[in-house]
Amino acid sequence: MTCTIPTDPEDCAQDGAEDWAELGFATRALRTGHARTPEGEHAEPIFATSSFVFASAAEAAARFAGEQPGNLYSRFTNPTVRAFEQRLAALEGGECAVATASGMAAILALCLGLLRAGDHILASRSLFGSTTQLFDRYLSRFGVSTTYVPLGDLAAWEAGIERGRTRLLFCETPSNPLTEMVDLAALADIAHRHDALLAVDNCFATPALQRPLEWGADLVVHSATKYLDGQGRCVGGAVVGDRQRVGSDIFGVLRTAGPSLSPFNAWVFLKGLETLELRLLAQSRAAQELAEWLERQPAVARVHYPGLASHPQHSLAGRQMRAGGGILSLELHGGRAAAWRLIDTTRLLSITANLGDVKTTITHPASTTHGRLSPEERAASGIGEGLVRLSVGLESLADIQADLARGLAGS
Ligand SMILES: *Cc1c(COP(=O)(O)O)cnc(C)c1O
Repeated sequence: MTCTIPTDPEDCAQDGAEDWAELGFATRALRTGHARTPEGEHAEPIFATSSFVFASAAEAAARFAGEQPGNLYSRFTNPTVRAFEQRLAALEGGECAVATASGMAAILALCLGLLRAGDHILASRSLFGSTTQLFDRYLSRFGVSTTYVPLGDLAAWEAGIERGRTRLLFCETPSNPLTEMVDLAALADIAHRHDALLAVDNCFATPALQRPLEWGADLVVHSATKYLDGQGRCVGGAVVGDRQRVGSDIFGVLRTAGPSLSPFNAWVFLKGLETLELRLLAQSRAAQELAEWLERQPAVARVHYPGLASHPQHSLAGRQMRAGGGILSLELHGGRAAAWRLIDTTRLLSITANLGDVKTTITHPASTTHGRLSPEERAASGIGEGLVRLSVGLESLADIQADLARGLAGS
């Protein structure tokens, strides 16, 4: 089975939709997006070209006029980028995907493509720091306002709607770093009753564990930098959704404003998707074991992980996600001193704020990812000084445990 890459620049992933609808997730991850060229290559090729040539002046004119399908320029379309877009759309179950230069570019393009001055965004409080900055510091200058509500509090979402103005509900679930969740079906219902759209940043779960479009969300955004790559090599992003909003409104912003994904990075992500399910299931298994072990350590006050029975939304996680994911956080009794000591005594784990890598990373959110928040904002988000976040990789679990055990013993 081959799924064709459509050549019409305006026409994105949906053309493969009928082909993949019957296929399982793992098959989609391996077999969609790539239309073999006459060279007969087995692996997907990298089209490292900025522009494309035409057979004649008349063909060039027809392409530029949009009368004939085909590539023009890699800011608009590129076959390798399109292969990644098609594969991701197939995995999320969306009609269409567009790739972007970063996760933040995906969120920016979504907002520029769908919002106008006077519109209001209702967002969860526990968002990725740069997303909050984008909304508060930059979109606000163009007349788009944002207010925030606690992620899991459906009554607060309902009450936060500004009639006639709220156009977009935006959330991350599970959240960073506390792995809080929201019931996506219920949130989609709130959005749609008020003529608003629901966009979900699916960075933590990925389509291998959770598919927001199936729960009624309208749009999914990704930082491909994280699990889609999975090995910490490239920065990129994507938006997935329907043909009109993603394939036309958001794609229009991208091709004009230019935060396009490079073909090389698209190729890395394309290959990353092939092992996404295996990695996410293995990383979830390791994180689950680690979370249960950490809960038994005397130095640890609390562990936040959706797969733990002690997680307040454990049953929601069981319905909405296939597994708990690779991210967990723990609160130490000893505050910042204990958190920094735990981080500094590790020899194997990487001290970095990045996540979603097959190498385990450890970070202190209060002084890094959430360091720009005021102490009051951090307190409101539940980011304490004793909190440590782990993105669990694929090293031998016993080695990850041993690396943490030394620091915990000293606490
Ligand atoms: C990293 C991240 C982003 C931003 O992605 P970049 O690729 O760094 O621009 C957005 N949302 C979440 C949840 C992230 O973790």
